[in-house]
Parts: sequence; structure tokens; C-alpha cells
Amino acid sequence: MSSTAQPYTFSQRAQKITSSTIREILKVTERPEIISFAGGLPAPQGFPVDTINAAYDRVLRENGRSALQYGPTEGYAPLRAWVANDLKRVGAAHVSPDEVLIVSGSQQALDMLGKLFIDPGSKVLVESPSYLGALQSFSLFEPRYQSVATDAGGLVPEALTDECVRDARFIYALPNFQNPTGTTLNLERRKALVARCAQAGVPIIEDDPYGDLRYAGQALPGLLGLGRAAGATVIRLGSFSKVLAPGLRLGYIVAPQPIIAKLVQIKQATDLHTATLTQMAVYEAVNGGFLETHLPTVRELYKQQCGYMLKAMEEFFPATTAWTHPEGGMFLWVTLPEHIDASELLARAIQQNVAFVPGEPFYAGDDRRINTLRLSFVTVPEDKIRQGIAILGRLINESVVG
Ligand code: PMP
Repeated sequence: MSSTAQPYTFSQRAQKITSSTIREILKVTERPEIISFAGGLPAPQGFPVDTINAAYDRVLRENGRSALQYGPTEGYAPLRAWVANDLKRVGAAHVSPDEVLIVSGSQQALDMLGKLFIDPGSKVLVESPSYLGALQSFSLFEPRYQSVATDAGGLVPEALTDECVRDARFIYALPNFQNPTGTTLNLERRKALVARCAQAGVPIIEDDPYGDLRYAGQALPGLLGLGRAAGATVIRLGSFSKVLAPGLRLGYIVAPQPIIAKLVQIKQATDLHTATLTQMAVYEAVNGGFLETHLPTVRELYKQQCGYMLKAMEEFFPATTAWTHPEGGMFLWVTLPEHIDASELLARAIQQNVAFVPGEPFYAGDDRRINTLRLSFVTVPEDKIRQGIAILGRLINESVVG
């Protein structure tokens, strides 16, 4: 044992991080012959390469020296003001630029919020299932998760009983086209959620990277505006990853000023500030209203992709299998007959060159349902979607018979 001991000692926190077996399995999905519904990547055809190129070019030409200089931790002031104003679109008027903090992707926001709110053993409320990346970020701070039930209409507000909300540090909510399920919280539930959290004094973290990718149904007001009107504390996370491109690593947090002030201290210790050049270039790109012309093309693409998958599922999946019908975003969620373990199905699917993510890692509590899985539909071409879904349908049928 001692002969193999490493000459370093990881922190207990680091030692507690385990690499998931699913991640290991999914490594093979990078092979070109695999039809992968596993990835969480946006479709690269949607990246506005020319616009971004022109924006970087212009910033460097006209403002190169400030673009290459350190900047304030809070973020580039014109971009903060743009974000504050843009929130009117989701029903939050009167947000001040001081209530906006620019971050290096909303994933960084999740880490910073973990640092801000979670002590070991703190109660944290999460949807069941929830975004795996958030669970990974929060888990580093060793919370005690309390799962909140969801159904086809998203989070169930009635599940927020007195016992459930007592001493909770926050609730983490994904109201639009949730990752992983693709479900959306309806207006009544949004109102009930903010009213309940206002009454119980539980802050809401609203993570909404997909809200702008709605291709069906009616746009709904975000939790930020509804929550402010109801007296709830809402911390909203936004991202440029799905509306422009994830490689930019640019997002933002909107929160009451005292929370932003504390987060600024945390961010300063983390990375001083988000890349000045990126912030200035993205501001340059979006300031003239570019997203209004760009987003309809991304929505159209995603709508088409979602349609291809739903059509193939109708054709090839057995009646004993259920799935969500997203109104936007990139994912849908499948519930198999009770006795089918999605991890076991994945092992067989990979032998047939098809991959997806089993539902199990998206659950924080012991209410995990192993007969669930997530399918991502935006990056796979139509013929491969049909081929991949046909294979999955056959494997599910075999499990039902066998
Ligand atoms: N939240 C959710 C729900 C996500 O799906 C993602 C990306 N997969 C993120 C946050 C992180 O996004 P980013 O850091 O690129 O803004």
C-alpha cells in the first residue's frame, strides 16, 4: 500500500468527488459511429460565427487596449445595463444594473452560489430530477438535499410543505424546458411557487438558460418578476451559451444588491473577473438587437429537430413507454416500463452504437427512478435520429418481452 502511496494529499472535499460510472460509459459516445442523444451540446449550425467575428474585430480595432486590460469584478458596465434592460422581456421591469453580476457561464454562478449559501449539512431544495451540473457544483459544499416532486407540469408547489421548506437555504428551480426533462412550469404553479417561497422566506435560484429557445406554446413570465412582486428573494441565472455560443463562457446573475455584493467578493477570489474582451465583444454583438433576428433561426432549427424525434418515438417506441413533449430547449425525458433499468438499456444500446444518458444521476435523493432517461435531440441529423430511435424502440421492446 505505502509503495503506491502518492506524495500528496487531496482535501477531504476533493476526495469525496466520485467520477460517475455513466460518464465513463459515455466516453465512448465520442466515437463517430455512435448516434449520440447523450450530449448536452447546442447545435453548432446555430452559432453566429460571422457576427461574433465582426464583434471581436471591431472591439479590438476601436477599443483594443481597454478590451485587453483587467476590468471590474462586477462586469463590463454597458453589458450589465443591457442585461438589466433585457429582463423586461421576461416580465422583470426596473432591474438596476447594480443588481447584475457578469460571470463566466452560469455554471460558475452555481459554484459561487454554493459557496455563498451552503454549509456542510445545509438543507437545499432541488427538483427531482434536476440539472446534474448544479448537483455537482452544490455537492462540493456538502448540502443535505431535499427533493421536490415534479410531474409533466414541472415542480409541484404542493410538495413544498412546512417540513420541506423549514431551514432551507434555497430552492433551485428550472422553470423553462428543464434540463433534463424538457418540462415547463405553468403560470399558476409559478405564482404558487413564488408565493410559497415569499411566505416561507426561502430564496429561489431561477436557472433559465433555455427560456429564449421556446418554439411552441405561450411565453410565460419568469420567476424573477413574479417573485419580486410577491416579496420573494429571487436569484436569476442567465447565459449566452444557448443564445449565442457556449464557448464564450458568458452568463450573469441577477439578485438583490446585498447578494450581488457578497457574490462579487466570492468572484474576486475565484477569477477576478470574466474576460473583458469577451464581454465587450458580446455587448457589441447583442446591443443592436441582433438576438431578435438570430433567435428565430435557432428556435426553428430546434423545433424541427424536436419534431423529428417525437415523430420517430411515436413510430418506434412501445405504448408502455411515456415521454415529455417539450415546448422549447434541447431535451426530452423518457419513462420506461417500471422493470427496465435505463443503465442496463444503455449498455445494450452502446453495442448497437446508440447512446443516451440514464436518468439516475439527475436525482439528488433516494427517490431516483432507474427506468428514466434523457434524450438530447438538437445535434443529430434527421436520418440518424430515426435510425437511433428505431434501435432504442427495438431494445425496449425486447426488454418488455424478455
Ligand atoms: N444550467 C443548466 C440548466 C444547464 O443546462 C447548463 C448547461 N448545460 C448550465 C446551467 C451551464 O451553462 P453555462 O455555464 O454554459 O452558462
